[in-house]
Amino acid sequence: MRRERFGAIETGGTKTVCLIGSSPDDITARTRITTGEPKETLAQVISFFQEAVEEAGPLDAIGIASFGPVELRRSHQRYGFVTTSPKPGWQDVDVVGPVRDALGVPVGFDTDVNGAALGEGRWGAAAGLDSYVYMTVGTGVGAGAVIDGSVVHGLGHPEMGHLVVGRRPGDAFPGACPYHGDCLEGLAGGAAVAARWGRPAEQLDGDELDRALELEAAYLAAGLRNIVYTIAPQRIVVGGSVAALPGLFPLLRSKLSEELAGYPTLPEHASDDFVAPAALGPLAGPAGALVLAIQAHEGRPSQERPKS
Ligand code: ZN
Repeated sequence: MRRERFGAIETGGTKTVCLIGSSPDDITARTRITTGEPKETLAQVISFFQEAVEEAGPLDAIGIASFGPVELRRSHQRYGFVTTSPKPGWQDVDVVGPVRDALGVPVGFDTDVNGAALGEGRWGAAAGLDSYVYMTVGTGVGAGAVIDGSVVHGLGHPEMGHLVVGRRPGDAFPGACPYHGDCLEGLAGGAAVAARWGRPAEQLDGDELDRALELEAAYLAAGLRNIVYTIAPQRIVVGGSVAALPGLFPLLRSKLSEELAGYPTLPEHASDDFVAPAALGPLAGPAGALVLAIQAHEGRPSQERPKS
């Protein structure tokens, strides 16, 4: 029997990663394309896969994990579109349609964050769990929730980066979210850290790094408390460049424990792996797109079949 082969596309604000394979350990081709004007970018994506098909045979399905906001309601006429993105030229752009029509295979589609959540669930730090949350703390903050094995969607996708968190006493920083000021992302995202300290998180050191970590852990813990009480996840996986700051996780766990204040009394909340670092690193997004492709191949709901 022929081995199954899937295509994965992770579109990001600056680059688009495409790969072919069946798991992160079985990647047979990959490329990285600068995310430019939509038509040109999608044409480059499509020709990468067309050439791969010519060389090595057909694909079973393709998954796309896209920057957003995106339209995920399958009944909506703009399903598969990037909708109101601030990225120049990318308002109201059909991403799924051109890929599906050019390559003629089922296409799975979701946000980059939800994709990464699925990737961590299949091959990474949430493997084996059916209800968990994946949060990324990079320039912004985003999180995807998986409940009973399915990514949570409603009218749109959850925007847990914009949760309300209590301000730390003495913190006068106004917040960096263009919509809400001092929401979770506005206080704890990479853009907020850079605005607060005058340089990016990765460049902080000494006493400044200690103070930054303290605040970062406090605000993230407040955000995680909201998530624990709303979703009751089995685990929260945290990734992204700011989450990679040395020493953040032990502080984050202890501040979350303070936030929960013993309620409810679940021993799992006190375990070190309740808040776990992401395991797939930069591969989480493309790996998530692979999961979306596999789900599309299996006929799971997050997919769109070619028009016949
Ligand atoms: Zn906000």
